[in-house]
Amino acid sequence: MQLLIKHIIISGLSELICISCTLPPTHFPQSTPVSVIQPRAETQLSSTSPLSAQASEKRSSLASPVINAQLPPSLRSLRDIPAVPGGIAWISLPIMSPTPPRIEYQQRPVLVLRDEQQWVALVGIPLDAQPGVHYLVDSNQSNYSFTVYNKQYQVQHVKINQRHFVNPNQEELQRIQSESKRIAAALATPWRATTYSPLPLKQPVPGKLSSSFGLRRYFNGQPRKPHSGLDIAAPLGTPVLAPSPGQVVNTGDYFFTGKTILIDHGQGIVTLYGHLNQINVIEGQTVETGQLIGMVGKTGRATGPHLHWGVSLNQAMINPRLVMQ
Ligand SMILES: [Zn+2]
Repeated sequence: MQLLIKHIIISGLSELICISCTLPPTHFPQSTPVSVIQPRAETQLSSTSPLSAQASEKRSSLASPVINAQLPPSLRSLRDIPAVPGGIAWISLPIMSPTPPRIEYQQRPVLVLRDEQQWVALVGIPLDAQPGVHYLVDSNQSNYSFTVYNKQYQVQHVKINQRHFVNPNQEELQRIQSESKRIAAALATPWRATTYSPLPLKQPVPGKLSSSFGLRRYFNGQPRKPHSGLDIAAPLGTPVLAPSPGQVVNTGDYFFTGKTILIDHGQGIVTLYGHLNQINVIEGQTVETGQLIGMVGKTGRATGPHLHWGVSLNQAMINPRLVMQ
């Protein structure tokens, strides 16, 4: 197969590129704990009184944790896109239950949405997944198979004169290891159901998509992990807006991604914002779609201002473009 190869030479810091590619382990063998289901404000209430509405919401969360999040029409195109590493598998489930079935992939619960008369599982495929037959399992231990197809992402050769950017020293390696664990823990945030589909996601900043997801990178001839996010070029200080409702599960200033925010949107979807100039939220804070969360910067290992945007679905980093509104 013919490979598409890009060459970039960086002699200074003028070329915009994100060197945060050793970003986080995409998946772990342990299963994910499931949190108590928290219905959000979108729950349909019959009463118009705020007090009785609150009481009703409280009752509903106690009495029935069942929430039938509907599949937005804009996600239907996923049905026709082959499942590849870094992509999403669409699996129509032959399950007639009135409530969403609990489905797991690699021991992690996955996003299940209602599409008219059926349940559909949308499964994130890790970038390092092997092509072939993969399986989902439901709570009755029934298996559902689907095929993961091969995909050759572009190869990018980057020449960087700053050796330090390419080969961190021992102290930096220790820092990287400890930060990777923190980021991985945030990506493994306990699964929680939502009353709505957390997808699609709005683009968090306007701007050119400058470096695509999945690029297989070589820095000065040395292979690095593939690019696990999407880079969006934007001027320093451009506001970064939450793409969907969620809760901030981690903030930090990390070696590779600099000032970073991770937001849990529910149903196993966590988004990451890297290289920020400023962080405007704190851990534990709830955010709504369009809320200011930070400013575009070039902190960490970035050679120019841009947003590194990562989207994780069942702890697999997927191509954000697949779920952008
Ligand atoms: Zn990036």
